[in-house]
Amino acid sequence: MARVYNFSAGPAVLPLEVLERAREELTDWHGCGMSVMELSHRSKEFIGIAERAETTLRELLGVPDHYRVLFLQGGATSQFGAVPFNLAGEDDVADYIVTGSWSKKAVAEAKRFCKARVAADSQETGFTDIPDPAGWDLDSKAVYFHFTPNETIGGVEFHFLPETGDTPLVADMSSTILSRPIDVSRFGLIYAGAQKNIGPAGLTLVIVREDLVGIQREGTPRMLEYAPMAEAGSMLNTPPTFSWYMAGLVFEWLRENGGLAAMGERNRAKSQLLYGAIDGSAFYSNPVRPDCRSWMNVPFVLADPELDGRFLEEAGREGLTNLKGHRSVGGMRASIYNAMPMDGVQALVDFMAGFEARYG
Ligand SMILES: *Cc1c(COP(=O)(O)O)cnc(C)c1O
Repeated sequence: MARVYNFSAGPAVLPLEVLERAREELTDWHGCGMSVMELSHRSKEFIGIAERAETTLRELLGVPDHYRVLFLQGGATSQFGAVPFNLAGEDDVADYIVTGSWSKKAVAEAKRFCKARVAADSQETGFTDIPDPAGWDLDSKAVYFHFTPNETIGGVEFHFLPETGDTPLVADMSSTILSRPIDVSRFGLIYAGAQKNIGPAGLTLVIVREDLVGIQREGTPRMLEYAPMAEAGSMLNTPPTFSWYMAGLVFEWLRENGGLAAMGERNRAKSQLLYGAIDGSAFYSNPVRPDCRSWMNVPFVLADPELDGRFLEEAGREGLTNLKGHRSVGGMRASIYNAMPMDGVQALVDFMAGFEARYG
């Protein structure tokens, strides 16, 4: 079967060139006679793969030297707890901005381990925008400020960086990392599950400023502590070797395709094409305030939800898959990560116009 255009929110589409390269190297990696999956994580071959991945990532994102890069397991969800364990004491205050499902989960988990508080939320608008920073109720004693730059389910994205003075910014960038250039030096800590924009599931990236490493509270589970992981090159135990290798191939693909500046331009253009089609029709709509719309996850509804099933079925027949919206919001969602080509978005927009002409 031919490849489809996969609009899944995650695990998500990977660049075809990366999959093909992995296939070529699958049974005999660079003449070593075995697959990367079969290599010891302590072997010089794998250490080389691991170091190259980190170097390429640092180059792509412009990670300053005083930041550590960790390749962990447990998903972004583990970091919801690891962050307070590492950065806060039980009685410390941490500020959270809640703009959708993921930030809601992050603060709920943090509340179990420190005095996490909601400094602002967009509940009132049904999580369709970002509350005006002028109205944020920040606590000057907060040991960190947490936000979710891109809400994968609601399709709400920060197109600015919060100003929090000396309070370190902590960001769950699972669904937006590598989608455009960012200034890493503005962050205290960035974390991301890999399965959206980095590579296969099983790998979790943490980029953390040096002064925030080693201040974890007493009693932090060792596997969640950043300091020993940083010291051990993320190999306190067996890391997710194959996912790490695949992430490295994705980083190289990004570099070969112009890096994050080029990726940002492509992503802006892809999202503009799709939002333009939605806004230009009376049949489709997106509820998110235009200046907060995600470049990565585009939810939309049909004027008549009775047609949802038919839309999904006909789209599937044209090779446009995984467009069903998250169960909490219904309708449709097109996730258009880095590896989704412009041709895929164009095919979707063309299909949408045809569907509207037939049933609208
Ligand atoms: C997918 C996602 C998560 C959950 O990631 P896991 O790796 O499954 O734990 C958390 N936050 C955001 C923003 C996500 O998109």
